[in-house]
Amino acid sequence: MFCVNCGKKISKGRLCDTCLSKYHELFKFKKPVLRIKVCDCGRFFFKGWKEKSELVKTLVKLNMKLSWNAKIRKKEIISKEHGNKIFITVHAEGKVDGVNIKEKKSFQVIKINNKCDICSKISGNYYEAVIQLRDVSLSTLMDIISKDEKKFITKIKHVKNGFDIFFMKKPLAKSKSKQLKLLGLNIKASYKLVGKKKGKELYRDFYSVRRKSDGDKSRKNKNTKRE
Ligand SMILES: [Zn+2]
Ligand SMILES: [Zn+2]
Repeated sequence: MFCVNCGKKISKGRLCDTCLSKYHELFKFKKPVLRIKVCDCGRFFFKGWKEKSELVKTLVKLNMKLSWNAKIRKKEIISKEHGNKIFITVHAEGKVDGVNIKEKKSFQVIKINNKCDICSKISGNYYEAVIQLRDVSLSTLMDIISKDEKKFITKIKHVKNGFDIFFMKKPLAKSKSKQLKLLGLNIKASYKLVGKKKGKELYRDFYSVRRKSDGDKSRKNKNTKRE
């Protein structure tokens, strides 16, 4: 038997593997170029702001269209960044109609600079909660805040007897004040009405953090340090 397209000798079917793979494709990219909003911090916008680490994977998933009769067995993604562009290439291996096919295709991403929700809140000094450290060192709090969580601190203010730490989100401030309590500190929570949004009252949370009074000296000395 011979390939009906190129005339090469084959053992079965109508087309040789080379010609088959020309007519069969595993996948294609819906768009050769994607425009995506990306913040200086690396987060990007796709159905909401997403973490940088997911960028290439998310865009491949979004843009890749598998042929209806294709099965992909192996997929490798290679991406290169250059200026405001990302070049993404996908190497795939699989089968179309039972024929083994190797395929390599690329698309391009153009990054459009845009401030993400977190960064615009930071630059606007937005905050929902404040931890007020009084006669307690700043490191007592900072030591229990992870690098990722630090992104949600919008401001640190040095005040008389201590520091005010402004948090973008209430739950983080709440959980940190609980941790401070476990360290043997005294926490006093209060709430301040700051306005209304869509008919709902908006409150800011304040956590005043102090050392425990003399009754509890052993715990205090063990768990807190003075600067
Ligand atoms: Zn052929
Ligand atoms: Zn950002």
